Amino acid sequence: MRYFADILLPLPLDNLFTYSISQSESKLLQNGMRVIIPFGKSKMLTGFVMNVHQNPPSTYQAKEIEFIIDESPLVNLVQLAHWKWISEYYLTPMGQVLKTALPSLFLLESETELEWISDDNLSKITNHSSREIAYLLQVEQRLSLQEAQKRMPRKSLLLAIQELLDHKIIALKEEVYQGFRPKTKNFLKLHQRFSSPEIMKDLQDLLLKKPLQKSVVETLAKLPLDSNITSKELQELSGVSSSTINTLLKKEILVRYSKIVDRFIFEGKTTQTQALSHAQNLAFQEIKESFNHKKVVLFQGITSSGKTEVYAHLIEEILAQNKQVLYLLPEIALTTQLVGRLQRYFGEQLVVFHSRYSQSERVEVWNKVAANDSKARIVLGARSSIFLPFVDLGLVIVDEEHESAFKQYESAPRYHARDSAIMLAHLHETKILLGSATPSLESYYNAQHNKYGCVTLSERYGKVIPPKVTLIDLKESYRKKQIKRHFSEELIAAIEQVLANKEQVILFQNRRGYAKFLECLSCGFVPQCPNCDVSLTYHSSDHQIKCHYCGYHTPYFSHCGACESSNVFSRGLGTQQIQEELAMMFPNTKVGRMDFDTTRKKNSYEQLIKGFENQEFQILIGTQMVTKGFDFQNVALVGVLNADGLLNFPDFRSHERCFQVLQQVAGRSGRSNKQGQVIIQTYSTTHPILIQVVKNHYNEMFESQLAQRELFRYPPFVKLIRIVLLHKDFQKVKEGAAWFATALKGGFQNHVLGPEAPLIERIRNQYQQQILIKIPQDFDLKKSKSFIKKIHKSFVSVGTFRSIKIQIDVDAY
Ligand code: ADP
Ligand code: ZN
Ligand code: ZN
Repeated sequence: MRYFADILLPLPLDNLFTYSISQSESKLLQNGMRVIIPFGKSKMLTGFVMNVHQNPPSTYQAKEIEFIIDESPLVNLVQLAHWKWISEYYLTPMGQVLKTALPSLFLLESETELEWISDDNLSKITNHSSREIAYLLQVEQRLSLQEAQKRMPRKSLLLAIQELLDHKIIALKEEVYQGFRPKTKNFLKLHQRFSSPEIMKDLQDLLLKKPLQKSVVETLAKLPLDSNITSKELQELSGVSSSTINTLLKKEILVRYSKIVDRFIFEGKTTQTQALSHAQNLAFQEIKESFNHKKVVLFQGITSSGKTEVYAHLIEEILAQNKQVLYLLPEIALTTQLVGRLQRYFGEQLVVFHSRYSQSERVEVWNKVAANDSKARIVLGARSSIFLPFVDLGLVIVDEEHESAFKQYESAPRYHARDSAIMLAHLHETKILLGSATPSLESYYNAQHNKYGCVTLSERYGKVIPPKVTLIDLKESYRKKQIKRHFSEELIAAIEQVLANKEQVILFQNRRGYAKFLECLSCGFVPQCPNCDVSLTYHSSDHQIKCHYCGYHTPYFSHCGACESSNVFSRGLGTQQIQEELAMMFPNTKVGRMDFDTTRKKNSYEQLIKGFENQEFQILIGTQMVTKGFDFQNVALVGVLNADGLLNFPDFRSHERCFQVLQQVAGRSGRSNKQGQVIIQTYSTTHPILIQVVKNHYNEMFESQLAQRELFRYPPFVKLIRIVLLHKDFQKVKEGAAWFATALKGGFQNHVLGPEAPLIERIRNQYQQQILIKIPQDFDLKKSKSFIKKIHKSFVSVGTFRSIKIQIDVDAY
């Protein structure tokens, strides 16, 4: 009898590979366990068991697996089902989903390094090959699997490695097993010989003339034995400096020991959640009631209504059942205030999952979640946390569900974390809450059509009145010369007033840098990026002009690159320029700037927020970043320097987004007990969206935008799939795109648009062509997608097209 396992590999391939296994292995192996397999001529890869059976592959000779890594599945069945859904829905090979979903530490391959640990157990090794590898590593200290393999036949190599790993003679670098590098901390204690009271007495006598040292010993003697006190704490408690501690260490009166500590311990104090207001409590009850009938509930609560408080109360109930909560946020880095707040309520039960975490840290979170550890009951994370191995998920919350950061644009799978989370909740048979002040059109549409439950909270906490929003007509201001630099008289007056009251101002400008671009007034020349079809942006801080797409930069010349005229002028308006203008107009006022350029350094973002919170500066100017869920008590005015940039962005969602951004930024004003003010400068004072913002009319915005979507056939009335083709050779990509579009039209007829060049035709020296498919609601989505897959396959088989890169984006918005 022969046995086989179908193995999923972390490669951009759809098919599984069948490997041969022994009968005993067939009993051991479960789906979701990792094995090492030989791949190609000499590679070794980690794969996942997807199926164990007895049918030999028909077209190739099955190779044998090398070894089994896990004793139990690393990936659970719900995860596998979820990833399969992502793979099918987003037209991405399963292997690629796997690669995105797993911390790369879990994927041992030929390049993985082996590391020497100790020869403590070496005497127990009798096998010749094992000893040989051990000696090799003892000399080299570190060796990759591949290098080791060159010196030994593969089969005996892996058995040998296994044996050495088992005896802890070697380890995998950044251990793929449970080991990895745990975080340790050093502590101090009295040497063991002072454990009896008599010797203690002697010791104190001995130190009689050394009051500082004596103080340390006395401090320690008073503490319980297992106090785990750090050197710093000991210094503080006994009032000595580090040199005293060092002396005691040298005399071996004190000894140092280290312990593994939890990386994620919360060291602050926790507090109770706040009592809910009447309105909040109503919403809280309604949400729970709604969950009785609906799996998905949309929670529309205006800014400052205290949605977080409601979430916290829901979370408490789930924790009481020892179940897990996934709390998704669009961007962790931008929400330090929220993280802090939830941490105060839930302490070490909450773990944050961050894209900036090291691989070891990710593995640590992974393991905790897999074990339903009480120290990781709540996972607060950005989109990639949907891939964690939840075992008993009780609730999913998607905060700011309308945010575009939930969608992964850059690389496949191009998934939307909100939509994937809905599927995750479904597979776990649990509930999901989508929260926002300004829901996405799609979610609101689903709520209106009874697909989702819907709960609203339309009162600000503490009954704070919503801010007063005013539009300022820039055309008029310029005509009447009532404008200084980029500030209308009204905005200047309002800023002066607020500053006089010792309150704070937030100014919003959607563009970073100094100005959008430079233009020669003599010949019209605008410097362009040599790699991308975009204008370069001037940054005055380092006098460079930069491309925001590929990072290209070059020194700024004050003379035109084409005609050498010195009449070069900057057009457009960036945050940095606003900051300089403010410095001229309000020389005595401190201004902080928050944008991509000023927050790149670690913690710079937190420092800006803290500084503004502590009123170290009065005006904060920034891009999109300042619209995030901040809560500053003293902000009385929000100014938008130019709303037109938001309106004129060529995208079918730009109006919806404009409304959302302006509502969010307006929500920063007047959180205290006084009505806030919002001033929006624009050339389009009669634009319906701006009027809806002034009137604070989400519903009106929704109705009018929805009508537009229906008229021009956009989601939710169609499924939008974008196919982008990329190649260095313009002619080739054009031909390829024409072929692809024609083939698609065979199935979708006139629902295929294009091919055409996207807004920016060339990025990083690659020409792009895009094709849009608008799949009507009455088409079968599964069949439509497999049709696209089929075309993709035949496209790749056309020899000349093979080098064209293809990106498929389902729900491309
Ligand atoms: P949202 O997220 O809906 O914009 P927040 O949750 O940030 O609103 O709440 C706005 C402010 O009101 C915060 O400062 C918060 O601490 C406060 N707040 C909200 N609900 C309560 C409550 N029940 N008790 C005390 N303070 C509250
Ligand atoms: Zn560029
Ligand atoms: Zn010129």
